[in-house]
Amino acid sequence: MTNAMQCNAMQYNTNTKCNTMNDSKMPTEEELKKRLKPEEYQVLREKGTEVPFSDEYVQKQADGIYHCKVCGAPLFTSNDQEDATKSPTGLQGWPSFNDAIPGTTTTKLDSSHGMTRTEITCATCGSHLGHIFDDPSTKTGRHFCINSICLNLEKE
Ligand SMILES: [Zn+2]
Repeated sequence: MTNAMQCNAMQYNTNTKCNTMNDSKMPTEEELKKRLKPEEYQVLREKGTEVPFSDEYVQKQADGIYHCKVCGAPLFTSNDQEDATKSPTGLQGWPSFNDAIPGTTTTKLDSSHGMTRTEITCATCGSHLGHIFDDPSTKTGRHFCINSICLNLEKE
């Protein structure tokens, strides 16, 4: 991801003059602890998982863009949201996407909890979002299982 793309992502959120993105632009963990609800902090910054069916975006409600709750970067579009209740993966309690907006997320192998999974994080701020699984029922064959509380939907 280029600096220019990161810059645009931040600008989208803050409407402030956009400097080259660096760590000093990011809120500190202390600021995030104050700003986020405890359950949001636990998922986004400590790689937790929200309780299934606990939040508003499990089912698609409206067209729009889903943004990172920490930095505001656009991450997913409602066009790529799947009906998780129809997924054969068993991952039915969280929002499901078949893809992310290109360049906005990063993935890495996560072997915690005795499983090997692909973790997905926000490319701009590094916050945890969820995991990616194979899912033949989606058009990309992938199932982005994302915690609702990591996202803010900006409706079209
Ligand atoms: Zn972010």
